[in-house]
Amino acid sequence: STRLKDKVALVTGAAGGIGLAIARRYSREGARVVLVDRAEKVETEALAQMAGPAKAMRGDVTDPAQVAEMVALCEREFGGLDICVCNAGVIRAAEFLDLELEDLDFVLNVNVRGTFLVAQAAAKAMVRQGRGGSIITLSSMTAELAMSNQMAYGASKGAVRQMTKSMALAMAPHGVRVNALGPGSIETDIMATITDDPEAYRTVLSRIPMKRLGSPDEVASVALFLASEDANYVTGQTVYVDGGRLAL
Ligand code: NAD
Repeated sequence: STRLKDKVALVTGAAGGIGLAIARRYSREGARVVLVDRAEKVETEALAQMAGPAKAMRGDVTDPAQVAEMVALCEREFGGLDICVCNAGVIRAAEFLDLELEDLDFVLNVNVRGTFLVAQAAAKAMVRQGRGGSIITLSSMTAELAMSNQMAYGASKGAVRQMTKSMALAMAPHGVRVNALGPGSIETDIMATITDDPEAYRTVLSRIPMKRLGSPDEVASVALFLASEDANYVTGQTVYVDGGRLAL
């Protein structure tokens, strides 16, 4: 189908598991997609999987000048920006007592500062264009569910959840909706840090009511809903995609 026909979508972290699945889905639904990642394969492997007009750019979401260029690329190539997915994110697992300041800074820098920079640059462009829009951030079930070895990550995703609500309030008068996705345990490189250890993997699975990890495509389905007109009255929400984990 073509639920995003004529829309322009910016997706960060688009070389990764969830970002690439979202970019692919948006492209199949008729959007023109700008893929951004600091990894080189965004310009090769990832871009090659798009179904229609698309551009790729290597860039770091924590650098304001590079973020400005991401939005400028959307405007130059495709005449504006309707959908922005602030998906780039990182994880550093460490027990609280072992957590290094450097790891805390690294995680907060990408997940909080990076999300803020991209979302604000996109929001300013959307206000300028005056045709509304949809901004989607990546929170996580760890915004609600604390884990002793995920203090930095959980703090960053709790921040993203709350930032999303502030942005939704500020952007409602401009016709821009802002929502967060809250994935549970999704099968990507980020989860591989956990699933590589059979013992830890069994524990994770045993705590998921649906008894399996989610796929990046199952997150992309909700990202499509939030970007589309089907979600026209939905803003300020975090939608958890977690196989029932938070209901436990
Ligand atoms: P991933 O590692 O496969 O993808 C993340 C991508 O972000 C990578 O391609 C990486 O190169 C890119 N990236 C990292 N830092 C960047 C930076 N500074 N600038 C530009 N690009 C950068 O991981 P994923 O699982 O696809 O994660 C995507 C998002 O979903 C993240 O925000 C993550 O926190 C969130 N999330 C994932 C899960 C999960 O279980 N996989 C659960 C909850 C939330």
